[in-house]
Amino acid sequence: MNDCIFCKILTGEIPSNKVYEDDLVYAFYDINPAAPKHILIIPKEHICCANKLEEKHAALVGHIILTAQKIAKEQGFAEDGYRIVNNCGENAGQTVFHLHFHLLAGGKFDRMV
Ligand code: 5GP
Ligand code: ZN
Repeated sequence: MNDCIFCKILTGEIPSNKVYEDDLVYAFYDINPAAPKHILIIPKEHICCANKLEEKHAALVGHIILTAQKIAKEQGFAEDGYRIVNNCGENAGQTVFHLHFHLLAGGKFDRMV
């Protein structure tokens, strides 16, 4: 866990551009944006990926989605539309093993699924 770059972002050891923070979650701009707006929302608790979520995390995951909605409204792209993405595991392209949700906006996306 000590080698986790997102845990280091949470402690401030690695700098980040904060978008939102509360007791449970932290949101910041992705360093390598894949859309005009690309924000990452992470739980403050280190959870490696969606595979490790348990029933006790249900409210936390709901809170992350509501945080995405809140940011979308605050940043003015809620009505235009946005995408929330979670990559779980290597085949999905997960590269940082601290649970995170990508919030992408600012353009029209191709269909993914
Ligand atoms: P994944 O591929 O695991 O779903 O997404 C990881 C994301 O974290 C990538 O979009 C990548 O650009 C972003 N990322 C990796 N390292 C850093 C960092 O040090 N700072 C920030 N702000 N984003 C990072
Ligand atoms: Zn972590």
